[in-house]
Amino acid sequence: MKLLRRFLNIVPKTVQLWASVFVGCAFLVGLVLGYKTADPGAVLRPLSAYGGAALVLGIVLAIWLLCLGFVFADARRRDMRSILWVLVAALFPHLLGFLLYFVMRHPIAATCTHCGMTVSNHQRFCSWCGTAQSLPNSTKAPLTANLSQGASQ
Ligand SMILES: [Zn+2]
Repeated sequence: MKLLRRFLNIVPKTVQLWASVFVGCAFLVGLVLGYKTADPGAVLRPLSAYGGAALVLGIVLAIWLLCLGFVFADARRRDMRSILWVLVAALFPHLLGFLLYFVMRHPIAATCTHCGMTVSNHQRFCSWCGTAQSLPNSTKAPLTANLSQGASQ
């Protein structure tokens, strides 16, 4: 449950909304299909069969949608190409794209102390405003050491 909450915290709210709308629509379409194909005497049986099948299918596709939303938001906070990774996750068969994403993903990117934009961990300076970034491992090192490291790159 804790893991699920962390997962849903990362997935954008709009994607969550669309996923639930999608489940509702799939269920309704299933009910309508069941109603149309039913004999006038026995409506309940095809109604529950079609409705149930559509609900399961809708939930499976909604989970897939949520996972794509997760990849999008997670790639973004890791300063990776989010659109590209969503396409990789969506188009590779048998969830290989998701596997590839989790193997290849970078550590979570830091935010600039000055302007708040995402700065990847190997960057010494913010590419948006140019402020020097303090590194997690070398916060105690003198500033000149950081500057010479930055210049040598
Ligand atoms: Zn900045």
